[in-house]
Amino acid sequence: MSALIYLNLDAVHPVVDGRWHRARLTSVPLPGEKITMLCGVTADAEFERPREHAARGAPTQCWDCDLVYRREHGIDILPQHPGIRRERAPGGEGKGKTRSR
Ligand SMILES: [Zn+2]
Repeated sequence: MSALIYLNLDAVHPVVDGRWHRARLTSVPLPGEKITMLCGVTADAEFERPREHAARGAPTQCWDCDLVYRREHGIDILPQHPGIRRERAPGGEGKGKTRSR
C-alpha cells in the first residue's frame, strides 16, 4: 500500500539567499534541476527538512516575484509596492540574476 502525498506547486516558494521566490513549476523539480523564478533569478533545486530550514531563519519575500505574480493574476498593486520602486530604478533589480548553491 502506498501513501500518496500531494503537493500544491502554487505553495512551493524556492528560497535563494534568504529570499523566497515564486516560480511556474509544472512538477516537483529534481535535486540539482535549474529553476527560474518569476523575477529571473535562477538556481539549482535543493531540498531540506523543516528543522534545517528553521535554523537559517525566516526568509523574506522577493518583491520582484510578487510584482510579476500580481500582474499575472490581476491582483491590485499599490503604487508604493517595493517591486515597482526597484523596477523604476536604473538597472532595476532582479532581472537575469543567477544563483547556484
Ligand atoms: Zn524572485
